[in-house]
Amino acid sequence: DLVVIKRALISVSDKSGLAERAGTLAQAGVELISTGGTLQALRDAGLEARDVSEVTGYPEMMDGRVKTLHPRVHGGLLARREREDDLAAMEAHAIPGIDLLVVNLYPFEETARSGAGIEACIEKIDVGGPAMIRAAAKNHRHVAVCVDMRDLDKVLEAMARHEGAAPLSLRRHLAAKAFARTAAYDSAIACRMEAEIDKPARSWFTLGGPRLQKLRYGENPHQDATLYAAPEARPGVASARQVQGKELSYNNIADADAAFELVSEFDPGDSAAAVIIKHANPCGAAQADNPASAYERAFAADPVSAFGGIAAFNRSLDAATADAISRNFTEVVIAPDAEDAALDILSGKKNVRVLLTGALADPDAAGWMLKSVAGGLLVQARDTGRVSASQLKVVTQRAPDEDEMADLLFAWRLVKHVKSNAIVFARDQRSAGIGMGQTSRVEAVRLAVRKAEDAAKENGWDEPRTKGSACASDAFFPFPDGVLEAAAAGARCIIQPGGSVRDAEVIAAADEAGLAMVFTGMRHFRH
Ligand code: 5GP
Repeated sequence: DLVVIKRALISVSDKSGLAERAGTLAQAGVELISTGGTLQALRDAGLEARDVSEVTGYPEMMDGRVKTLHPRVHGGLLARREREDDLAAMEAHAIPGIDLLVVNLYPFEETARSGAGIEACIEKIDVGGPAMIRAAAKNHRHVAVCVDMRDLDKVLEAMARHEGAAPLSLRRHLAAKAFARTAAYDSAIACRMEAEIDKPARSWFTLGGPRLQKLRYGENPHQDATLYAAPEARPGVASARQVQGKELSYNNIADADAAFELVSEFDPGDSAAAVIIKHANPCGAAQADNPASAYERAFAADPVSAFGGIAAFNRSLDAATADAISRNFTEVVIAPDAEDAALDILSGKKNVRVLLTGALADPDAAGWMLKSVAGGLLVQARDTGRVSASQLKVVTQRAPDEDEMADLLFAWRLVKHVKSNAIVFARDQRSAGIGMGQTSRVEAVRLAVRKAEDAAKENGWDEPRTKGSACASDAFFPFPDGVLEAAAAGARCIIQPGGSVRDAEVIAAADEAGLAMVFTGMRHFRH
């Protein structure tokens, strides 16, 4: 099961950590072969290595597009050492056996993520590297392959233990990792190419780019979890800079994402917006002139739920906002940016994780959403649906007035981000009561109404904010009951997709109650 490492081919784009490890290989008596830039780096470090051009008999050409694509390289990687005919071919064609391959690829992913144009990206498509990696991984019975310089340490350790040899278990592990690497690399390329196509076929499934972070655990402590980068660059939680606080947990990341995607629906040029998320659902959201009052309004919407929540903002954090946040127990704060004074204040709360994203998430950005099912993976496009006032259809005798319309649109933006069945009451650009994740629509209405009543008690308000509110439903009302309960709670107007077979009954109930109701023609299920 042991393969003695006598000859290694090293061709690395990222040369960090190269010299030291290659030095250890050379000391172990391993002959090194290298491509141009790597060879230069080795020689600069005072190491001896053979130029791959000497092996192939061809110079590197076409700006490095062709360096190692040659039978003398691939034969040396693919030859089955126990096969007479393979050995004879090596002998006949002067093919040197390669026992160890160390390759890291041209930085395609980093280039694509930096927003580079397609031509620049194409130049970063590594051809020879993946070809060698796949050859070595296929032939792992005889070859060890490292696609990550740190894995070379494992090979060196094994060699130290096994008289210069690498065991099969390690070679297998490295081969699997190698194929995972080339698969992810090609996925990233497919994804970038797709961005150039007018009508993407959307048939490639690209799980993602490099692993960003191994998480302590998943939703629960007995579940493993990892955060991967998506191939496309997008401002948001995965690319955010954490400026303080404890390590992010799986749930922190998921909730911070939900919070930031929602708050990014609100144009910071129009007003400041703040949302507070608990367990992936908003428990409070509001707009205001400044982030601090948006936050206080959002918090008051459901102070009980907001405890230990995640707060997201569509504008830079200022001192007043940081002050307001510090008064409550908050797990994570996420915003595009923060003033120094705000960070000073938050630094007094060491455990609060503060994430700065640099920009808002683009609600219109294309992207994938994934969900695993037993034996399969469900993949769908992001919900980029949005409606404007002009697209709404008034279905009741009374049309909403300007204020009502503003609250309807606010509630509609919010309900898109609430788990179904979802109901949102809103008044004066703040959530009044949110009913989430219920198994019947009328139950979601009741939950939202109860939460509004609780908030009124908590805050010492005269009446729940459902009085005079706008009510949004993520999907149609299948019966008039939900509409009647909303009206009983004081709602003045309703926004919903429409499309039920009982729409006529539902509209009649709304008219009877004096409500204004509009249809969006679009629903926002979120499960
Ligand atoms: P170096 O800096 O040593 O000149 O180049 C190292 C890089 O070249 C590595 O990332 C390796 O994957 C890549 N590489 C090796 N052989 C070939 C080849 O034949 N064609 C292309 N396009 N890249 C190669």
